[in-house]
Amino acid sequence: MKALVTGGAGYIGSVTVEALLARGDNVTVLDNLSTGHSGALFAGADFHQIDLLDTGPVTKLLAAGDFDAVIHFAAFSLVGESVSDPEKYMRNNVCGTISLLNAMRAAGIRSIVFSSTAATYGEPRSLPITEDQPTLPANPYGLTKRFMEQAMEAYDAAYGLRMASLRYFNAAGASAARGEEHRCETHLIPLVLQAALGKRENVRIYGTDYRTPDGTCIRDYIHVEDLASAHLAALDYLAAGGESVICNLGNGNGFSVREVIEVCRQITGRPIPAVGASRRPGDPARLVASSARAREKIGWNPAKYDLRVIVEDAWRWHRTHPNGYE
Ligand code: UDP
Repeated sequence: MKALVTGGAGYIGSVTVEALLARGDNVTVLDNLSTGHSGALFAGADFHQIDLLDTGPVTKLLAAGDFDAVIHFAAFSLVGESVSDPEKYMRNNVCGTISLLNAMRAAGIRSIVFSSTAATYGEPRSLPITEDQPTLPANPYGLTKRFMEQAMEAYDAAYGLRMASLRYFNAAGASAARGEEHRCETHLIPLVLQAALGKRENVRIYGTDYRTPDGTCIRDYIHVEDLASAHLAALDYLAAGGESVICNLGNGNGFSVREVIEVCRQITGRPIPAVGASRRPGDPARLVASSARAREKIGWNPAKYDLRVIVEDAWRWHRTHPNGYE
């Protein structure tokens, strides 16, 4: 299999490249390095520093590459930032993806695995969330991802471009060689582990008055290696002629913010002070996935679903890379 991976220098993208190379696939990475890291690239994969909005070079790369499929990670993904700067999200996530889809069409590439998100649902109707629940994104980030799913459905109907859209819940953990490193960190587990390392004084708990057993938000944390294996399964599904599909990727287990902090205290053996803070706008109280469809349709089989294992792997990464990829 010859795959083009956009965003392959990012967190989930680099762990997926690692998995593709491990099974012997031929991998080319396209990344503009705006949020990715050159240190996350692999020598075994070709690398092209290109911005998806530069349609000329994108079209040229795809036309010459003889790719069987594209895995498309390259996007911005911060909910809060998308609220304060929606143009940035529309331009990159929407216009960038359309540029990629058009280049795929011109090159005759007919399979795409797409990074989508639980943010496409908005406030869930019931738990666990199944893919047939209504999609009412509560922020521009979720909106861009849902819009692109719909655009790909139209491209499938008109041009036969098949997609596997994977709606991630909360990615966490690390592989042996790659981990989570955001220049502006907003995610719970890395922030808690930074507090464990003494790099920040405490963890702020955004909202302690939610209607949940301990008053804090509940999320479904999924190991980044399990996310990566889902991309490989989705590639194989499309290569075998599978029709377009949208699948949730989560564990089906919800953990509250306080529970996550407590597990981090146990794994790290450090006190990790936590303080209550006001709610973060746009945070639903509970997000927990049903991943039954991913198991049935694409044959996904997650292996690292224990939150302790997820935190242990994240902790190993943060301890051994206190300055990330620097
Ligand atoms: N959260 C928190 N303190 C932080 C960062 C996150 O209490 O410093 C909460 C956040 O409000 C949410 C959960 O932790 O309920 C997971 O947030 P994260 O940003 O990791 O992922 P999201 O669910 O937004 O994709």
